[in-house]
Amino acid sequence: MFSKRIVKCVFIWGLSAVTSFTYAQESRYSFEKGMMGSPFKLVFYAKNDSVANIAAQSAFKRIEKLNELLSDYRDGSEINMLSAQSGSGKWVPVSDDLFNILAISQDISVKTDGAFDATLGPVVQMWRHATRKGIFPKESEIKEAMSKTGYTKMKLDPKSKKVFLSQKGMRLDIGGLGKGFAAEEAVKVLQTFGIKSIMMDAGGKIVLTSPPPGTEGWNITISNGSDSLKTMALSNVSLATSGPTYRFMEYNGTRYSHIVDPKTGIGLLFHVRTTVISPDGTVADALATAFSVAGIVKSKKIIARFPASKVWLVEKQDERVAEWNTLE
Ligand code: ADP
Ligand code: MG
Repeated sequence: MFSKRIVKCVFIWGLSAVTSFTYAQESRYSFEKGMMGSPFKLVFYAKNDSVANIAAQSAFKRIEKLNELLSDYRDGSEINMLSAQSGSGKWVPVSDDLFNILAISQDISVKTDGAFDATLGPVVQMWRHATRKGIFPKESEIKEAMSKTGYTKMKLDPKSKKVFLSQKGMRLDIGGLGKGFAAEEAVKVLQTFGIKSIMMDAGGKIVLTSPPPGTEGWNITISNGSDSLKTMALSNVSLATSGPTYRFMEYNGTRYSHIVDPKTGIGLLFHVRTTVISPDGTVADALATAFSVAGIVKSKKIIARFPASKVWLVEKQDERVAEWNTLE
């Protein structure tokens, strides 16, 4: 018997100032908005309400703009228009934003031996369709979708900011690092308003700048997904968590993650929860996805290429639990 379940997180629409209290000359402000299918939360310290409001509005506007360019849900988005030209033999000029995110993605693909792959669009689409219809894809469909993937089929020219997709039917999907990228970009906007202490949480992909005034850092609690919690005072660093908490497909009692193994074209079968701490939010987001795919044994080799990153990875299969934690 088939059963399907998609659990989506609840998020709050509309921009609302939740709190504000004063520390020395600066007050703490907190804003929340549902964006990119997830709750986005922004906390920072600013001199007054008007600076805080305009800065927050500008930061959220920047994320909306990025979503317009990068969303694979929108037919007219720049990324979908680029994908539509795959196999045409053309080098396509793209915006700086799209070029930058694809460049980071390619770098991570190479360094993770392809565990991270932004060309998985055809496979991700196939699984989305299967989840909606409640029909498990045929082996031939998985094979067909997989034949249109592979990060080596995407070429980038940094000088002209042009992209070449060598095969017809390719589809880019930057879902594995888009929220981390959005968080980094939102923080840059806030900094143009002279704001220094910022916590931007883009659906579990968090970018932190200077500590709140008079403190050692932002108190961030990280969980292994069940019993174990760890609270750390962090600043000037990013962290990202990937896990099957919100989105997955269930078929014949088996749960498939929305994170796909680029080698098989199938959603991860292990329950994996991964938290990564890195200097950069886009890298943290991408690595959380990549380490989830690679698993503990392979990730131990991969992390050598990311000496500034730390990870807490928990793999569960039935009663068996394996953990790898370098956060200490
Ligand atoms: P989330 O954003 O849901 O917390 P991730 O950052 O791990 O989780 O991103 C998952 C998304 O990334 C998927 O929905 C899909 O769009 C895309 N994706 C799935 N598998 C991969 C992969 N192996 N490499 C890169 N992107 C992937
Ligand atoms: Mg990710």
